[in-house]
Amino acid sequence: MMRAEPKVFLVGETRIVEEGLSAYLAYVGAPNWKTDAPSDSERLCEVFGRLCYRSFEPGLNPNVTRVREGNRPYLENILASGHGSVLEHPVLNFIFADVSRVFTHELVRHRAGTAISQESLRYVRLEKLSAYIPTEIHEDERAMNIFVRTIEQLEEVQETLAELYGIAAEKQFDRKKKLTSAFRRLAPIGVATTIGWSCNFRALRHVIEARTDPHAEEEIRLVFGRVYEIVRERYPNVMSDYEIEMVDGLPWVRPLHRKV
Ligand SMILES: Cc1cc2nc3c(=O)[nH]c(=O)nc-3n(C[C@H](O)[C@H](O)[C@H](O)COP(=O)(O)OP(=O)(O)OC[C@H]3O[C@@H](n4cnc5c(N)ncnc54)[C@H](O)[C@@H]3O)c2cc1C
Repeated sequence: MMRAEPKVFLVGETRIVEEGLSAYLAYVGAPNWKTDAPSDSERLCEVFGRLCYRSFEPGLNPNVTRVREGNRPYLENILASGHGSVLEHPVLNFIFADVSRVFTHELVRHRAGTAISQESLRYVRLEKLSAYIPTEIHEDERAMNIFVRTIEQLEEVQETLAELYGIAAEKQFDRKKKLTSAFRRLAPIGVATTIGWSCNFRALRHVIEARTDPHAEEEIRLVFGRVYEIVRERYPNVMSDYEIEMVDGLPWVRPLHRKV
């Protein structure tokens, strides 16, 4: 049995099509509009926000005589005023590897603004099992032994069933799939697996808040603490309003503006 350590990979993000944006800005009468956004994703949020009031510069909308300059002040105002729909446009793509089915069950409860692709344990046959062991258990050697022994026994169960059915020599993929699916029922919910998860900024802010809360489960707190570290660095303006408190060694990431 291998001890699993959850891993977070940010593998994709939204990119602006420069010629398309330039053409739109020319069309709307603001061909020289520029901003200082640190990422395309944050620039896109600003573009979609300004589009609403035609507030790229004063006078494009006769009602607008002043505009807020700069991406950070602009997005800070979006967050403060709860105009969160503009944060739905950019999408981030994560892969979470070596996470348990405990984690994935919790993650998939977040429906709004997300997309999911999960490793199929119907197709991918379990051999060596690995699992994350929560820190609470580390403190007691007897408990650790129970965890390790149980997972090792379940690993043996997978091997025994595979031998019993001679699955390695099985030629029919459909049969292998049926057997693999049957065997996985005897794997623990803590078994390490992989899930691809995409979300928009609005959903991400909500999930970071909900899942780094000290009442949330340890593994998902750990993962979303890491997610926060990545996005705070990469998208500082849309993630500008957080305060961090360490609770039980994990960050509790709280936004000033909730549920924008
Ligand atoms: C600490 C903790 C403990 C939990 N314990 C349990 C538990 O014991 N049992 C259990 O079943 N679940 C539990 N959950 C899961 C929880 O109930 C939610 O299902 C999960 O957090 C998804 O969040 P969400 O409902 O905000 O959905 P998301 O999909 O993240 O939605 C974001 C927001 O969009 C809005 N929204 C989304 N869908 C709809 C809709 N259909 N209609 C109207 N508005 C919508 C809501 O404002 C929602 O908050 C727990 C979650 C946490 C963080």
